[in-house]
Amino acid sequence: MTSYKWIESRTPDALAADATALFNAEFGTAPTGVWAAPGRVNVIGEHVDYAGGVCIPFALPLQIAAAVTPREDTKVVAASQKTDGTVARAEVDLKDIRPGGDIGWLGYVAGTVWAAHESGALENLTGLNIALVSDVPLGSGLSSSAALECSVAVAAYELDHGQGPDDAARHQLADAAMRAENDIVGASTGGLDQTASLFGAEGKALVIDFDSHTHRLVNFDIADQDLVLLIADTNAPHELNDGQYASRRGVIDDVQNALGSLRHLSEEQIAAWAHENGKDATLYAKRTGHVLHETARTLQAADALEAGDFDTFRRFMADSHASLRDDLEVTTPELDSAAEAAGTLGARMTGGGFGGAVIALIAKARVGDTVAAIASAAEEKGFAEPTFYIATPGDGARRLV
Ligand code: ADP
Ligand code: MG
Repeated sequence: MTSYKWIESRTPDALAADATALFNAEFGTAPTGVWAAPGRVNVIGEHVDYAGGVCIPFALPLQIAAAVTPREDTKVVAASQKTDGTVARAEVDLKDIRPGGDIGWLGYVAGTVWAAHESGALENLTGLNIALVSDVPLGSGLSSSAALECSVAVAAYELDHGQGPDDAARHQLADAAMRAENDIVGASTGGLDQTASLFGAEGKALVIDFDSHTHRLVNFDIADQDLVLLIADTNAPHELNDGQYASRRGVIDDVQNALGSLRHLSEEQIAAWAHENGKDATLYAKRTGHVLHETARTLQAADALEAGDFDTFRRFMADSHASLRDDLEVTTPELDSAAEAAGTLGARMTGGGFGGAVIALIAKARVGDTVAAIASAAEEKGFAEPTFYIATPGDGARRLV
């Protein structure tokens, strides 16, 4: 019998113990505390967070734990344990952080602390010693970057204020994490990941509206329906800051800079503007069409979810994939292969695209067949071997110890 690879996740206790052990090994003392933040899966509403759209993600039980102690100076010293057991260690002085300066992965960590101080979410500019352990696969569209930012953000907040962040403070931290990613790392992401990582709750999905800047929690009772959400990581890694994501976003931003949020525009208005301004009308219609249709679809998907109508919800997921493939053109052969192998309903790529993962909302009884179909399609085409995970909605960023 063929065996398949599954993504492993530790319990919060095990994650906290491992982060504490790493902190001890790296810094020679016990940490003040351990905080954790989850990766997320976006169920529907893709590439619309930067265009006033709507998305429905949930926080995953896959998390990053940060064991942290404040420092006397303003340095951030971070050690991160890689999956092979080796440790990457880097440091930067918060006073030296500038937009545009390249400090690698430390940009997510120290950049968030810096941005939270700039916005007033953190009162004191305090250095930190940080030990990080992670169960979130890197660059798979499950947002290891937001898990990294948000674990450090809630730690820094509590160490600064003496208590954990309330909802208002979580909004400030989400903004700071997004700014770190946009201005320090140079990845143009739109806020979906950080909101999901900070506000997720067990058993719930979030419906996030990027026009009104509000979100609500909705029951994601798939177990009652004998459904599961299967994630298949294609293991064809993506790089959001390699220009492709920015080029898709560039078209959207071009229109929005001239006409305002896409949420309040029609296809006709955009076509007329593109024509008057000498733009490639076909390209602009496809790219913006994805955003307009995906937002309308996701609003309807939210209604279907609240009504417990998963057949309709799953149809919208399949439509979302087709739109990302044909109109926004952010899928890859690996993503299309996995989505097709998973079936015609409930399967779509998730995350920014250009690699990463596919999700399939399917009957529990179909998991074995679906995993086999996705894996053998990848093998036949000579693609990397996918890894699998059954996702359930978990809690947002919080203190563990
Ligand atoms: P995703 O968020 O979908 O996983 P991104 O490209 O946005 O993909 O973020 C991945 C990047 O985040 C990595 O290349 C690395 O720089 C950083 N990162 C994520 N997790 C860790 C970690 N545990 N330790 C160090 N850096 C990390
Ligand atoms: Mg990311």
